[in-house]
Amino acid sequence: MAADIHLFLCLKDNYGVLVHDAASGRTAAIDAPEAGPIEAALRARNWRLTDILVTHHHGDHTGGIPDLKKAYSCRVVAPAAEKDRIPLVDETVREGDGIRLGELVANVLETPGHTAGHVVYWFHRDKAAFVGDTLFSVGCGRVIEGTPEMMWRSLTKLRDLPEDTRLYCGHEYTAANIRFARTIEPDNALLSAREKEVQGLVARSQPTIPTTMGEEKKVNPFLRADLAEVAAAVGMTGEPPAKVFAEIRARKNKF
Ligand SMILES: [Zn+2]
Repeated sequence: MAADIHLFLCLKDNYGVLVHDAASGRTAAIDAPEAGPIEAALRARNWRLTDILVTHHHGDHTGGIPDLKKAYSCRVVAPAAEKDRIPLVDETVREGDGIRLGELVANVLETPGHTAGHVVYWFHRDKAAFVGDTLFSVGCGRVIEGTPEMMWRSLTKLRDLPEDTRLYCGHEYTAANIRFARTIEPDNALLSAREKEVQGLVARSQPTIPTTMGEEKKVNPFLRADLAEVAAAVGMTGEPPAKVFAEIRARKNKF
């Protein structure tokens, strides 16, 4: 049976996500920004929380863990490299590990850069990846604990996922990301099309995610740093992609 995935807002612009396996009744929260909205989403579907899969240690992804653990005694799964910075961890994961959620299976991909131990949970059979703050629609996370080279490697690792993979990211930043992306690729027609689509979704108060990897490869400048036209757009023709990526990321920080 396919994963039942439910997305909702937490805090100001964080996304909460529930992944439910109907066969076993198991339900995982991907990160725990805030307990209240997660509990409300569970109640609305009559689901019981069995697991929390944590992508990285930031407080806006882990703040809800203590209350949820108290209410549900759920398993908390977190990246091994960040276990000391995340509350109440039961199990740690590394690159290549598989995590079972009833009949559903997630593969763990390490994507350091935003934080040193950030991981992504890829439910390959369900064509869904929970990418935390590594990748956003038309954007990527700030490089806080790693180097631009590290982040570029992490992004290209995600870029190798099948194009029909649905990407669930940690924040609703898409409209602002598009405004920035337009400064890098003003003539990208597919980016203009995405902008129109996002304007419509925002006007109807609907989420702009999930997006897909196929879509992101066409419009996300951070996944396009190895294209000649993108390097040229930032005056870095012939430079290594990681350097072009670093320049685009630095411009976004100041945008
Ligand atoms: Zn973060």
